[in-house]
Amino acid sequence: KKIVIAIDGFSSCGKSTFAKAIARRLGYIFIDTGAMYRAVTLYALEHGAIRSGMVDEEAVVRLLPDICIDFRFNPERGASDIYVDGDRVEGKIRTIEVSNCVSAVSSICEVRAKLVAMQQQMGRRRGVVMDGRDIGTTVFPDAELKIFMTARPSVRARRRYDELRAKGDEVSYEEILQNVLSRDKADMTRAISPLRKADDAVVLDNSCMTVAEQMEWFEKEFRR
Ligand code: C5P
Repeated sequence: KKIVIAIDGFSSCGKSTFAKAIARRLGYIFIDTGAMYRAVTLYALEHGAIRSGMVDEEAVVRLLPDICIDFRFNPERGASDIYVDGDRVEGKIRTIEVSNCVSAVSSICEVRAKLVAMQQQMGRRRGVVMDGRDIGTTVFPDAELKIFMTARPSVRARRRYDELRAKGDEVSYEEILQNVLSRDKADMTRAISPLRKADDAVVLDNSCMTVAEQMEWFEKEFRR
């Protein structure tokens, strides 16, 4: 029987990498909900609803009905790419500019209502691994398996830094660490669906774990 696996946790914990590996292992669909909040943020940036880092909430809400987001499977990556209005934006949504504004955009009620409804629709037939901040608490409170991921902030910042540097982005480690910490804080303290561990979630701290070790851990939890 296919189930819903909800993976929540702090920024840059390797949730997507882990979720993707699980989806591949089980033949499930992987859905990166952070990419959806990032896509809305990118759209807002490109349409003047964010200026000099200031998010104009009313302007974002006005744009919302026009934002058409979808996922299309990319066999090369073995995962789905996110598209906005038919354009593949996978590369554009991971910049530090988007990272710096995404928590403010994701705290807007109307934004969450739209994206949560899409996520529930995508998971209605089960057989999905969904990663985000509120999957086990809000999107699928009835998920059969909930995992809450965490890792030391310095480890998380280092991973994100290496990733962006490998892409050729000119970022500093300090800037990334600040972004990771401020997103944690914003995500935990927002009024609507704040980031928190669901009572029935199991905790995975992967500070000192390889992906292979995380998969071993998962096999045990899955069989339980
Ligand atoms: O997972 P990722 O770091 O790409 O998520 C980007 C941001 O999107 C998070 O910092 C958070 O503000 C927001 N987010 C959210 N709820 C989710 C997924 C992401 O609020 N389910």
